[in-house]
Amino acid sequence: MAESRSNRAAVQATNDDASASKLSCVKKGYMKDDYVHLFVKRPLRRSPIINRGYFSRWAAFRKLLAQFLESGISSNETAQPKKQILSLGAGFDTTYFQLLDEGKAPFLYVELDFKEVTSKKAAVIENSSQLRDKILGANSSISVEEGQVLSDHYKLLPVDLRDIPKLRDVVSFAGMDPSLPTFIIAECVLIYLDPDSSRAIVNWASKTFSTAVFFLYEQIHPDDAFGHQMIINLESRGCALLSIDASPTLLAKERLFLENGWQRAVAWDMLKVYGSFVDTQEKRRIERLELVAHDAGKSIIIHLINLVFHPFYVMGKGISSIYEHYCVTYAVNDAMGIFGDFGFTRGSRESMNISSAMSP
Ligand code: SAH
Repeated sequence: MAESRSNRAAVQATNDDASASKLSCVKKGYMKDDYVHLFVKRPLRRSPIINRGYFSRWAAFRKLLAQFLESGISSNETAQPKKQILSLGAGFDTTYFQLLDEGKAPFLYVELDFKEVTSKKAAVIENSSQLRDKILGANSSISVEEGQVLSDHYKLLPVDLRDIPKLRDVVSFAGMDPSLPTFIIAECVLIYLDPDSSRAIVNWASKTFSTAVFFLYEQIHPDDAFGHQMIINLESRGCALLSIDASPTLLAKERLFLENGWQRAVAWDMLKVYGSFVDTQEKRRIERLELVAHDAGKSIIIHLINLVFHPFYVMGKGISSIYEHYCVTYAVNDAMGIFGDFGFTRGSRESMNISSAMSP
């Protein structure tokens, strides 16, 4: 039963969708990513609502990641303390290469995914000097067959995340040090796994890394009309959200972490993330890039375009509905005591009001 609702190839294909969506944003000027185009065979133009949603996700991720990278550095220190990033179900994400360009790459960046995906990623890295030159050094190697890229500071490795003993082995093979501050990324990954596997991964991560931030981005609210449609669409493609009923709300996402060993957890939906966490200046900039339905006075034409081109779009409930069905959850373990003010509210001078551009 679970097999027909969810199959490996269909879940892997969601990575191609993610890359195409990122490229659509990059082309419109929402954000910079000099590498994502290398991974997209068929570029697509996403609707303004989807672009803005992707941008919000990216902005929240980069803002929390920047907080992590800055934490524990005192003002009289010049050297960056050793830190590491672990990306679960990384797909074709290019954050490592972006951080290198920005001079912000951590000591170690490890990406894990199914072998089918890591092989394709290894091939793209091997065939593109733009990427290859960034990681090649005396100790580096790329194997498309093994789906592996090994270099001093970046490792790409294949594993089925549901196999915790193997996950443990791979992470240790990658040279991750459990005592170092670690940022764990799981964007649209755990929700596709069965609930026991999702819980086991969250639990393993908490037991393994005592000073860590877990960044989770995924769907919520399967039970209203919009959520129902979202579930039907994904199931019909063979990539059911197997874990959504186990943590269907913001509170349940926080509980997933708190019940599995994490000290602190906070979940916000994307409406709140956009309204209260994404920088006001950035919002001003991107809201000028293209009109979304609300900006245009809920133009019927834009609604119709979205209905045709975006499977999750529900007429009359456009923008707020989509953003209320995705959330960012972060969880913190802080043995070293460096994440005291980490999170959505750190140094926040943002208004707590939801931006009018995001309201229904
Ligand atoms: N995190 C990336 C990709 C999301 S697509 C992004 O946000 O852009 C989901 C990814 O998770 C796919 O690449 C898929 O292959 C991977 N994935 C899903 N289940 C997995 C599993 N059991 N083991 C390893 N990778 C998995």
